[in-house]
Order: sequence, then C-alpha cells, then structure tokens
Amino acid sequence: VKGNFTKNYAFYDESFRKDKLFAQNITANMERALKDKEFKVYYQPKVDLKTGQMIGAEALVRWVSPIDGFMPPGQFIPLFEKNGFISELDCFVWEETCRFMRECHDQGLPKLPISVNVSRTDLYNLDVPKIVCHLTNKYQLDKKYLHLEITESAYNEHPEIILKVTSVLHDLGFILELDDFGTGYSSLNLLSEMSIDILKLDMRFAQNHTTNKRQNDILSFILDLAKRMGLVVISEGVETKEQADTLRDMGCGLAQGYYYSKPITQDEYKEMLMKLKG
Ligand code: C2E
Ligand code: CA
Ligand code: CA
Ligand code: CA
Repeated sequence: VKGNFTKNYAFYDESFRKDKLFAQNITANMERALKDKEFKVYYQPKVDLKTGQMIGAEALVRWVSPIDGFMPPGQFIPLFEKNGFISELDCFVWEETCRFMRECHDQGLPKLPISVNVSRTDLYNLDVPKIVCHLTNKYQLDKKYLHLEITESAYNEHPEIILKVTSVLHDLGFILELDDFGTGYSSLNLLSEMSIDILKLDMRFAQNHTTNKRQNDILSFILDLAKRMGLVVISEGVETKEQADTLRDMGCGLAQGYYYSKPITQDEYKEMLMKLKG
C-alpha cells in the first residue's frame, strides 16, 4: 500500500488534501505569527476542592489569527511537535508566563504558582534547566512559582533523558507536575522513578468515574497511593458539581476544569487574583 500511495492519486481524498493544505498554511505562517504576537497565553485556574479557592493556574497557548480567527492548540501543537517549532513557541510561553507573574507580584496581587507545559520535544532539543533558570532570574521569581507540566507519555521514547532532566529540574527547586497521568503504560513505574511533586490525573478519571466501576476502583487506588507517597493530586476536566464533590470525597485535593473556569485572559486572571485578595 505504501508504495502505491504516492502514485495512486485515488488515495488522495479530499479531506487528506485539506489537512495537507491546512498544515502547509500553518507551517508557512508560524514564524511570522510569533513575531506578530498572534500567540496568546491564557490561564486556567486551579482550585482547592475543599475550599473552592483558586490556588494557581495553567498557562495554555492560543493562536489568534486575523485571518483564521481563534485556533485551539489541538490544531497546531501536534504539527509543531513534528516540525520542531514547539520549542520556540514554548520558550515564548514560558517567558510570557514569568513576565506576567512578575507583573502580578509587582501589583501586590496574591502570589500563586502558574504551570507551563513542557513538550517532550523540548526535553530532547533544549537545555530546559538552563532556560527556566535564566527566566526565573530575569524576572526575579522564586522557582517554586514556575511549575512544569510534563506529559506522562514523554517517558515512552527516551526514559533515561526524561529521568535525568526532571531530576535536575526538581533539584533546582522547580515543581514538577506529571500531566495526563493514567493514559500511558508505565504509570506506576514512573511514580517510583521520576522526581515529581504533583500528579495531574487525565480528565477521563474525573469524567467517567460515576459510570465506570473499574475506573472508579483505579481512581481510589491512585488517590490512595499518591497519599502514601506524599504526592498532591489534581484532577483535570472537572465539569460538574457532582464530579467535584465525588473527587473531593474520594480524597483528591485539587481540580481544574470548566466547572470552575475556562482558560481566561491575563486581565481576567488578574481580576480573579484581586478577588482573592479582597
Ligand atoms: P493539556 O495540557 O492536557 O491541557 C488541558 C486541556 O483541557 C486544555 O485544552 C484545556 O482547555 C482543556 N480543559 C480544561 N478544562 C476542561 C474541562 O472541564 N473539560 C474539557 N473537555 N476540557 C477542559 P487546550 O487548551 O485546548 O490544550 C490542549 C493541549 O494542547 C494541552 O493539553 C497541551 O497538551 C497542549 N498545549 C496547550 N498549550 C500548550 C503550550 O503552551 N505548550 C505545549 N507544549 N503544549 C500546549
Ligand atoms: Ca498540561
Ligand atoms: Ca493534561
Ligand atoms: Ca494533553
């Protein structure tokens, strides 16, 4: 089939062609878009399940293009991970987040940590410890305010690199969050090998536990294990009060999701910080 593929244009169906054009368009525009400040960083609050109070946020990138409009990261991040541009974009997101935290601190707003996403490509291509140290120095931030979210599946390809870099980052004082926990095949091994502080449960745990008994058992097991290991657990994708209540009753400490807030702009996030203060 592979050999025929390039010769036989019948395989080039319309949707495939569109995807290819879409990808080409993105690749042709990404550098310019970064220069033209079309990438915006949004912040999604994280809350304490017991008190409902905001305890921090996650930085999530959006592409706001004057031509194509508002683009969610699912449309371009996978492409950028393939063509390598993700590392340039992530460096921008990390710096923008640090600059923003400095601005908030300078305005006397409550000091809360913000987490940024670190793609596996970044861990292979960049000297992440050097870059994030430079940023926390430049913006005079305590390292504990910059949390780094590393997706569980990063570990799949080159575990030795991931283990090394994460242990360096951890020893430097950065807080590490293991993202999408429970989606990979090595979840439990990772817990014993990787220097992480926070487990970020994949959203299917928050969303399916009421309907799936086995999933529910796994969730209790993970929460139990995390407690024994002294790890903080945050549930992603919490959309309803019922989900929030159940997770809290099962012993989960933190949550993130539409039930509390969608990702919001810097100004909206500042307003939330201001309310915390008042
Ligand atoms: P993620 O890191 O797992 O981020 C969580 C995603 O879930 C975000 O999607 C967020 O908007 C969405 N979400 C939050 N609460 C809810 C909820 O209650 N229900 C549902 N259904 N979804 C919820 P988003 O912003 O579209 O980002 C998608 C993925 O793109 C992220 O998944 C992350 O892997 C990647 N990404 C986003 N920004 C960056 C970035 O700056 N750098 C890198 N490397 N990856 C990023
Ligand atoms: Ca994340
Ligand atoms: Ca996640
Ligand atoms: Ca993800």
